[in-house]
Amino acid sequence: MKLIAKTNQYRRDFDGVVKCQFCGHEEELRNGYDDHFYHTQVIPNLICNKCNKSTISENGTIHKAILKYPEDIQL
Ligand SMILES: [Zn+2]
Repeated sequence: MKLIAKTNQYRRDFDGVVKCQFCGHEEELRNGYDDHFYHTQVIPNLICNKCNKSTISENGTIHKAILKYPEDIQL
């Protein structure tokens, strides 16, 4: 899955919408965490409820994280 929108963010915690690159299915994402690990390891491992594929299982492109706050600052 890939993140297509953030709907809400407080500090690094966010909700958003993820979309499957393979079948186009969209799902709500809750309790996301806005750091590089989450964007590049956790989201690509999310399995689509419709086609059961994940970005990592299909060797899809993992997008670089665009963080609201740099990781080295204390919030
Ligand atoms: Zn899918």
